[in-house]
Amino acid sequence: MSTVIVTGSARGIGAAVVSAFAAENNNVVINYKSSEKEAIELLDKLKKNGACAIAVQADVSVREDVERLFSEAEKNFGFVDVLVNNAGIAQQKLFTDITDDDYDRMFNCNVRSAFYCSQRALPQMIHHKYGRIINITSMWGISGASCEVHYSASKSAIVGMTKALAKEVAPSGITVNAIAPGVIDTPMNSGFDSETMDELKNETPVGRIGTPEDVAGAVMLFADKGSGFITGQILGVDGGFI
Ligand code: NAP
Repeated sequence: MSTVIVTGSARGIGAAVVSAFAAENNNVVINYKSSEKEAIELLDKLKKNGACAIAVQADVSVREDVERLFSEAEKNFGFVDVLVNNAGIAQQKLFTDITDDDYDRMFNCNVRSAFYCSQRALPQMIHHKYGRIINITSMWGISGASCEVHYSASKSAIVGMTKALAKEVAPSGITVNAIAPGVIDTPMNSGFDSETMDELKNETPVGRIGTPEDVAGAVMLFADKGSGFITGQILGVDGGFI
């Protein structure tokens, strides 16, 4: 049994990931920034199904909040051996229109959060000589997306962080991997009109938009205790898009 923190897990991909861990009898920590209602509903659902779960409000781009998130997790469940850095934001804008605030918000939410959470998780993982860190990047962090340059750049940073950190902590029995989802049906894509979603579906070789559960399945693979020889990998869950 593991104790698992999934950042940004009140909805979307994070909610599917936390549900998958709970279904396998792990202790799970739902984290949310503003989606309190969704977090409480998910917590109730998981608990009704017999899971050991808590929900903690924390902005994971703020170090003090990350400290509180981990303290709450450790107080309830002890050693956090699995961290899924999932929290993230997206924004569509012409490159020339991206402001300093847009840029800072993007990198704080998508990169600084993984930096803070991984830094907070690692001392205990190193002490126990075991841990699993799984980062959620994006296929756009590998191929680049027009009108999403700051998003793509932030997700590329996660690819670099994953590969470098994997090398640094491998001697301590800790793996660091990333999932690069394609187009997944979550609130993040709710701003796209149906025509755009149809185009994205048609560009996806398997012929459908992905589900949060598609991503959760890949996270479970990296989290498996038997996956100790898999590290520094970026796994595309994109229906063959790139
Ligand atoms: P989503 O439904 O918008 O969920 C993102 C979650 O991140 C939200 O629940 C949000 O929490 C949380 N979050 C954002 N900033 C946060 C912060 N500072 N602290 C704590 N939580 C924060 O989007 P999603 O599609 O599930 O995205 C999950 C991850 O997958 C993201 O990293 C995204 O970039 C990546 N991804 C998604 C797709 C896709 O097509 N959907 C494709 C590739 C990669 P609150 O709601 O509580 O504010």
